[in-house]
Amino acid sequence: MYRKDTIAAISTPVGEGGIGIVRVSGAEAELVAARIFSKKGSGGLESHRFYYGEIRDPDNGEVVDEAMAVLMRAPRSYTREDVLEIQCHGGYLLVRKVLELVLRHGARPAEPGEFTRRAFLNGRIDLLQAEAVMEVIRGKTEAALALAQHQREGLLSRRIDRVKQGIVTSLAFIEAYLDFPEDDIVLPDCREIESAVRESLVRIDELLDGFGQGKVIREGVSVLIAGKPNVGKSSLLNTLLREKRAIVTSVPGTTRDIIEEVVNIKGLPVTLLDTAGIRDTEDEIEQEGMRLTLEKIPLADLILFVVDASRPFDNEDMLIMHAVAGRTFILVCNKSDLPSVADLPEGLKAANTVTISARSGAGIDDLREAIFSLFIRGAALDGREFTALSQVRHRDALERAKRHLQSFLRAFQAGTALEFVALDLRDALGALGEVTGETTPDDILDQIFSRFCIGK
Ligand code: GDP
Repeated sequence: MYRKDTIAAISTPVGEGGIGIVRVSGAEAELVAARIFSKKGSGGLESHRFYYGEIRDPDNGEVVDEAMAVLMRAPRSYTREDVLEIQCHGGYLLVRKVLELVLRHGARPAEPGEFTRRAFLNGRIDLLQAEAVMEVIRGKTEAALALAQHQREGLLSRRIDRVKQGIVTSLAFIEAYLDFPEDDIVLPDCREIESAVRESLVRIDELLDGFGQGKVIREGVSVLIAGKPNVGKSSLLNTLLREKRAIVTSVPGTTRDIIEEVVNIKGLPVTLLDTAGIRDTEDEIEQEGMRLTLEKIPLADLILFVVDASRPFDNEDMLIMHAVAGRTFILVCNKSDLPSVADLPEGLKAANTVTISARSGAGIDDLREAIFSLFIRGAALDGREFTALSQVRHRDALERAKRHLQSFLRAFQAGTALEFVALDLRDALGALGEVTGETTPDDILDQIFSRFCIGK
């Protein structure tokens, strides 16, 4: 629930840093500044101007730190309320002391995401944009970041608005008729209503279609390198890992060996799962490698089924072939620098195939392209217009809207009373409003904003 009191939090990460920022939002922000911040010279703070001064405890006159402060008066601020930001030195204890001072002089501690929630509740941004703020902060690849920024700028909201437009138009026709039933609704209107709803359905399908891609860009995909011993799995892994620039920034809290296997393929975060490390000349260890490979096959989004093209396809290859059948896989014919023995079984001839040499690097770019294009269709990831749904919440709401529109069309064509068919249109609008936040229940909002960090 929106309380109009004044909130405050540390907005920079906890720890030692050059600068620490305490943010205050609400009607008391200016008063807080007047109590604890003394700038050089006389007079109060002008809006949107940076001032140099001191943070002082008014109770005992103690100078806590030198600082810069800026007051942003409503509505020209992040929350559309009066916002005060204090920049002090970024010491763990020091920033806390500044915050405590702020809390003693008119503010209460902000809840996670409360600043952004206020920006949403005050109508500066919609819910999709608010959610994007978190994605922007968490984005780990260029593509995930671009996607989040487009959503924050409102590109996705505009696509949802266009879906709504067709429904609002149709509802307007129907409501006009219900209000003035004596003016017979004429055929062109019926057709117009139907086509507007159909167009909204097409737009919903396009959005739903993009859901997989949005999710893939945010969360990445897992790719298993599978193949019998000695086909070149480790060599391929190393080739894919070799380019330092391809390695994704490390994520705190995850273990090192997993991070080393996350590569960035044209902006797509790819976790390479591999059992190549478990491999030796001793037979039983090789067996173990095979067993692990077979075990992991069902867990991966994609399997790179590596075969040694310079040797005949044998029973061990066959074992893996059977295990990958029915799954998404790319057949990787390795060792193209050696004379090839082309004897692939019938079942593999139509497979998505890339020929490479892990040793020379030949074909590796084709393999990257093949991996990328399996998951990402069409639009370049950093293209200006690229937007996609990325959250289950969005997908579920759109699916509900779709069902209502389909049910509307069926009832409308069957000549059901307009009072009733109009309900489906209103429900569809309600479902779409949940995506952008107009009709989202409070408990869902609580859930969404509780995933934010404090100070955002
Ligand atoms: P793994 O058991 O599947 O992980 O295979 P490795 O990557 O260890 O490779 C097995 C052997 O094949 C090693 O001696 C590699 O040097 C060699 N090898 C790997 N890729 C190629 C390649 O593209 N061409 C050639 N000629 N040899 C390769």
